[in-house]
Amino acid sequence: MESAVQHQEAQSELAEEQKDEVSSPDAKRFKVSETEESRVAGAGEQQETEQKDQQQLYITKLKLTSFAPLDEMGEGRNTCPQCKQSRKFFCYDCYLPLADQSRVPKLELPIQVTVLRHPKEKISKSSIVPAKVICPDHVKIRHDLHIEPLLKEGETFDEVVLLFPAEDAKDVQSMSHEELLAIKHLVIIDSTWHQTKHFLREPNVVSLKKVKIQTEKTAFWRYQRIAETNLSTIEAMYFFFRDFETNLNCGGDLSKYSGKWDDLLYYYAYNYWLIQKAYTEGNRRYEDFTRIKGYITGLPDTMK
Ligand SMILES: [Zn+2]
Repeated sequence: MESAVQHQEAQSELAEEQKDEVSSPDAKRFKVSETEESRVAGAGEQQETEQKDQQQLYITKLKLTSFAPLDEMGEGRNTCPQCKQSRKFFCYDCYLPLADQSRVPKLELPIQVTVLRHPKEKISKSSIVPAKVICPDHVKIRHDLHIEPLLKEGETFDEVVLLFPAEDAKDVQSMSHEELLAIKHLVIIDSTWHQTKHFLREPNVVSLKKVKIQTEKTAFWRYQRIAETNLSTIEAMYFFFRDFETNLNCGGDLSKYSGKWDDLLYYYAYNYWLIQKAYTEGNRRYEDFTRIKGYITGLPDTMK
């Protein structure tokens, strides 16, 4: 890793995050279990020890393509080959990776994904953009206020489902194989909580069958979150595909999951890595990362 470059990138990333916290589309939409929430929300020393134990976040255990092409991109920003705008690792308008395309991940998903976004929310701040960069043929990002029917002619409500933790949502890990294999199309809302409520009033959204995921503690750094299970949108999408794979092909045993969909979090994990690096070895090593207590734990071996 080029230390000077990384530090600079991490710093500008953080500066950008701070500037735009309020309009960030990722909010407390994917919190799932109340038990989990109340467990995390409690305080006390025991809690702190527990928190420390939990620092072995899922994100440090991912099986990812090498970060080398991102490391090699050099200082500062790069030019998008299509729109010629200055960008970092990918272009959020053209959904193109700016690193050597043969060395960054590209995935073929078993299910089409449609992401609903409010037209006024800035795409540059969305965690979901890399999903389309990594899965260009299987992810659509829509910026519509009013949602046209999401079912194509002849499709059923078993085939098109909404990822949302409603009370009546089915847990992906407990669905039957028949139910899972019926899913052709997953709809995800990527919006602030306020705009999410708007989408949930749209007849073509609210009528969908809802599915939910098992969650782990988020690696999302943008918010002082209410509970640590409030996932960013890309994390929620990743956990859907991980749970789907674990149920369908691993007998429900997460320890048998091979990491098949981990690269969905390639850019997300890289940012995590940059922040850990900046605050442990980089130019912010004497500062506290105050926004999330216990967030900085250093670099796990898997990410060195
Ligand atoms: Zn572009």
